Amino acid sequence: MKPPKFDYHAPTTVEQALELLGRYGGDAKILAGGQSLMPLLNFRLSRPAALVDLNRIPSLAYVREQNGQVRFGAMTRQRTIEFSPVVQARVPLLREATKLVGHLPIRTRGTIGGSIAHADPSAEYPTVLTALEGEVVARGPKGERVVKAHDLFQTYLTTSLAPEEILAEVRLPAMPAGAGYAFEEFARRHGDFAIVGIACVVVRDGQRCTLARLATSGAGPVPVRLRAAEEILERDGLSDAAIEAAARRASELVSPDADIHASADYRRHLTGVLTKRALTRALGVARG
Ligand SMILES: Cc1cc2nc3c(=O)[nH]c(=O)nc-3n(C[C@H](O)[C@H](O)[C@H](O)COP(=O)(O)OP(=O)(O)OC[C@H]3O[C@@H](n4cnc5c(N)ncnc54)[C@H](O)[C@@H]3O)c2cc1C
Repeated sequence: MKPPKFDYHAPTTVEQALELLGRYGGDAKILAGGQSLMPLLNFRLSRPAALVDLNRIPSLAYVREQNGQVRFGAMTRQRTIEFSPVVQARVPLLREATKLVGHLPIRTRGTIGGSIAHADPSAEYPTVLTALEGEVVARGPKGERVVKAHDLFQTYLTTSLAPEEILAEVRLPAMPAGAGYAFEEFARRHGDFAIVGIACVVVRDGQRCTLARLATSGAGPVPVRLRAAEEILERDGLSDAAIEAAARRASELVSPDADIHASADYRRHLTGVLTKRALTRALGVARG
């Protein structure tokens, strides 16, 4: 299939891109890596009047540490993130999640901003943003605003970003030193979108768990933070019994929809199984 006709613009600054988005009054689409947008255009599921291509804006691609956060320009490629020493040292959960995103050619083009703005409920990056309580910087006609992960994802493929806004930066708090982490998911084939995924971080102090983070992908229209399961671990520690109880609670906390890939019950079951696996592996990492 071929996409419908559209105007094409390749601005070289964010200001030019914002002016173009404003000119089309919500009828233009931003083009980042194109790994999700191009299939939508080719299937004619999206028919924008124009594409505003961000690929010629060099200032939108970087990885830097600042104020205890790791900050990513929206156009930073997933492949760059996979091999970034800063990511490996400060947000290793993101590196682990990146390896699960599609295949090499997809990660070579796909961007962190595109993945988060696209808000696919099965994608890994929105789940990591939720688990780590990250935020994004949106730039629009009225200036800049910071949007927390829990205010960003609204429902399937929908965020609180306005059509005239550009997701310019993604900010993840650096993980505490010695934190255990794991991203566990189940997909029918390697590289497929997962049916369910779980992002997990634990910080231990002797027998105690001082911090637990659990978030899902594929278990609802947006990533779900499993707060009540985290509380079990923060209260009872990381014993086998506590992990078992947290995993059971996790499966009760989600209300997935059924689709052609899996029933709601199966997704709920996977949420429990993968939570247990993720916690067990994260504990192993924390123990060194
Ligand atoms: C075969 C295949 C398998 C895949 N498997 C996975 C997987 O397992 N896990 C996974 O997470 N992803 C997967 N993907 C998707 C891939 O990760 C995409 O790269 C990602 O979803 C979109 O990023 P992109 O940079 O390509 O964005 P694009 O496709 O260019 O854009 C996606 C959407 O986001 C909007 N957008 C892009 N950038 C911005 C911005 N800066 N500000 C505002 N809006 C913006 C666009 O207008 C569009 O609506 C797969 C893709 C394919 C083709």
